[in-house]
Amino acid sequence: MGHSRAPVDRHGRRVEYLRISLTERCNLRCVYCRPAGVDEDTAADVLSTRNVVNTARAAASVGISRIRLTGGEPLLRDDLEEIVSAIAALPGIADLSLTTNGQGLASRAAGLAEAGLHRVNVSLDSLVPETYAALTGGGDLARSLAGVRAALRAGLNPVKVNVVMAGRRLLEETELRPFAEWVRAEPIHVRFIEVMPGCGGAACLPADEVLARLRKWYDVEPAAGPGGGGPAKYFRLRGSAGTIGFITPLSAPFCDHCNRLRVNARGELMPCLFSRRRFDLRAALDAEDPVSAVAEELLRAALEKPARYGEEPGPLELRAMHAIGG
Ligand code: SAM
Repeated sequence: MGHSRAPVDRHGRRVEYLRISLTERCNLRCVYCRPAGVDEDTAADVLSTRNVVNTARAAASVGISRIRLTGGEPLLRDDLEEIVSAIAALPGIADLSLTTNGQGLASRAAGLAEAGLHRVNVSLDSLVPETYAALTGGGDLARSLAGVRAALRAGLNPVKVNVVMAGRRLLEETELRPFAEWVRAEPIHVRFIEVMPGCGGAACLPADEVLARLRKWYDVEPAAGPGGGGPAKYFRLRGSAGTIGFITPLSAPFCDHCNRLRVNARGELMPCLFSRRRFDLRAALDAEDPVSAVAEELLRAALEKPARYGEEPGPLELRAMHAIGG
């Protein structure tokens, strides 16, 4: 996958993956993500089409081969297809993905696939319509499900579904079983994610508890994941079409394998999700040769990646996941 040129940080990790947040705006209000009354970006604050593409071009030039577009809600950008098609055409970008809440995906999945998007992660925390609406501040489950179906039809592959384990309600049979049955029937990859300390204060449900519950009902066996360079551990329910994965930043941190950098929608580069350290790309993006200038910042940030999260003094708190892009 062209990993060989990617920068290596001070701890021997190859930094091959860049997440770019395209906006802080979102059409949902997930309890654990977005505190009430947060500031939202204005169009003037947010990276322009050209600046997003130049950031990706710089990433490709230093050997980063995977790019994920996130937000806020990236589908709120009308230029998403344009961004996707420009990035997909860059030599060296082997993997281009999108994270979305899926509310607006049904009508755009085919166009995004055509523009060159490889795969998609849809965040979908409950398959019970009322729970989904409550967790997302009024989201429509049917719309996100239509988005997942459209993504499968469009040939986006793999299609992953992100479920943040926000509270013990997920252990109830009415909440958990529908995910398992979905994975048995469809070639999708449902990943349960431990909620990180942050704005909403949702209680963290450890992955082990969910896995134990699944084992009571199903034959659960370790499985190869769908790929993608992320930290999930995967399982198959005997004979299932898809898989179930667990992402455990709290109960089993995976910093040793962290391969990523993040750029928020305002053009600040972050060496770690929890880092207060920021590298402002604005000046570099305005430079005469923005691609070389941004490339230099990317290499600098890669070198500054901490060995693990929480190294910086101060409480471990994500104040603005919606702004960072998860
Ligand atoms: N709007 C898009 C979406 O809903 O997927 C993209 C942005 S969202 C910030 C990206 C991912 O971060 C989502 O899967 C979301 O559930 C996750 N996320 C947000 N806050 C989180 C938290 N406190 N802990 C763990 N995951 C979180």
